[in-house]
Parts: sequence; C-alpha cells; structure tokens
Amino acid sequence: MDITCHKCGHTADHLEFTYLCKNGCPACGESDLRRCPRCGAECVFSRAESLENEEQQMEELSRTLAAIPRSNDPAVRDEARRIISRLSEMNRRWNIPQLGEFIMARQRELLF
Ligand SMILES: [Zn+2]
Repeated sequence: MDITCHKCGHTADHLEFTYLCKNGCPACGESDLRRCPRCGAECVFSRAESLENEEQQMEELSRTLAAIPRSNDPAVRDEARRIISRLSEMNRRWNIPQLGEFIMARQRELLF
C-alpha cells in the first residue's frame, strides 16, 4: 500500500518507510507513524485511508488493463505484466473473486 510523504512528496510502498510506532489511539484506527526514506519526515500511514486509495487505483488499473490489446510488442506486454502483477498483489488483500478471474483471463489473453 502506498504512502506519500507530506513534506517532500515521495511516494512508495509503506514498507519502504521505516516504522516508528503506532499513532494515536490503537482502538480507533490502524495507523502508524513512519519515517520517509528520502527526507526523514515523520508521516502518518493510515490503513483505512490507503485502502480507500487502493480501491480507486484498482479500478483505474482494471480499466487500463481491459483496454490493452493483444500484442507482440514487448513494451505493451511489459505494461500488461506490470499491471497484472500490481493488481494481483492488491487483490491478495481484497480477495475479490471477479477481479481474480478478470486478471487470470487477461493474463491468458495478453501474455500467452
Ligand atoms: Zn519525505
């Protein structure tokens, strides 16, 4: 799940930001305090918020993936492979069966 540093704008997977501690009340939200690897600022990482962002990202990626034509162009295939692996990784958290099937179908159509 991505996190964006509020200070320098660096965006990366939250695991690349050093974990510092739980932030705020542990009962009311899963958020961590993490350190930006680029500028060292302390950033709050909220699971709920980043899941919301992730849902939008999945929609966009699915739409992009649906529009990719079958092609022998290595650049197109690379792009498809990148989106497929990104979506599969996200869907491990979401377990949406239709999305899983869509990813598999597109993988067959575009990469074999
Ligand atoms: Zn930063």
